[in-house]
Amino acid sequence: MLVVLQEIRALEDYLVMPDAEISSRIEAAREALGPRVVILGHHYQRDDVIKHADLTGDSYQLSVMASQTDAEFIVFCGVHFMAESADILGKESQRVILPDLGAGCSMADMATIDQVEDAWEQLREIGVLEQKVAPITYMNSSAAIKAFCGRNEGVVCTSSNAIPLFDIYLKEFDKMFFFPDQHLGRNTGAKFGIPLDKMALWNPHEELGGNTEEQLREAKLILWRGHCSVHGRFKPWHVEQRRKEIPGVKVLVHPECMREVVEVSDLDGSTSFIIKTVEESPAGSKWVIGTEVNLVNRLQERFPDKQIELLAPDLCMCATMYRIAPQNLAWAIENLLDGNVVNEIVVDKETKHFAKIALDRMISMTNSKAQ
Ligand code: SF4
Repeated sequence: MLVVLQEIRALEDYLVMPDAEISSRIEAAREALGPRVVILGHHYQRDDVIKHADLTGDSYQLSVMASQTDAEFIVFCGVHFMAESADILGKESQRVILPDLGAGCSMADMATIDQVEDAWEQLREIGVLEQKVAPITYMNSSAAIKAFCGRNEGVVCTSSNAIPLFDIYLKEFDKMFFFPDQHLGRNTGAKFGIPLDKMALWNPHEELGGNTEEQLREAKLILWRGHCSVHGRFKPWHVEQRRKEIPGVKVLVHPECMREVVEVSDLDGSTSFIIKTVEESPAGSKWVIGTEVNLVNRLQERFPDKQIELLAPDLCMCATMYRIAPQNLAWAIENLLDGNVVNEIVVDKETKHFAKIALDRMISMTNSKAQ
């Protein structure tokens, strides 16, 4: 069969197209590609992109759901580490596309594999690794860091399963080194009664992370100094203010928020927990929610019989995820129609192998706790 190679379409041509045209081109390309493509939309994605998604969810859920389809192409409207996870968990034959390569995650970028390996070596040099230390990484990290955990008896966790995994590791190991979100690590550690003076904070730009040898030896939990730039914007005074403005309101926040915010809130939990809690609450319930604005707006639309507001009065969106505009999506899938795979995310074989070990460990351990 003669294959006619088409030139790669230029993104610039799409950036000047009107929104309505972009939208109909995405739908036409998707129809023409049929089951060959699956479009994933993360919960925090903007509305004009999410409306084109075949599947919506959080990063891990989406990667698993996509791997269960027969799609050749997974177009991930999320951020870089999510597309890597889809490649790790996907079938050999599936190819993953991130419509804008600039869509990173500020938190994931706060821990590089070189920094993590250097930190591990420093712990080895001062003898801390003579204790049983487990590296644990949040899903929001690079494939290389997931692989590092896979190689070193560690695991990946999500905000949904951090508690059961901490439970296992706290019993079986002397200490944990948690990357890259200090807040999720601290909030989860606090649920197990670990006092703050047993949680060391590792600053990758300082010798021994800015700690003394003794602090690191005594710590039960070493927390990488990373955070989410979206959830980090919520402050305890927002909670106080919203409680005054909306009497009887319940405050529901994501555990990527700082400890001081979680402490003064009513409930904290993963994105799925937040959605489920609001879904199951009775009509007339009042919520202020500390998470990404697009998710909160969609909850407002779904439940007009409940009062649902964002915790902070100012806009709080994930700016990096916002980089994926409908224009990028149209460009990516029309190129697919021409047989051109643009912005493919490929995790190398070795990294994939060890990252998969850490992810498989996460599943088997979470399942064992659920039984
Ligand atoms: S909301 Fe925060 S953690 Fe999630 S992708 Fe955006 S920057 Fe990363």
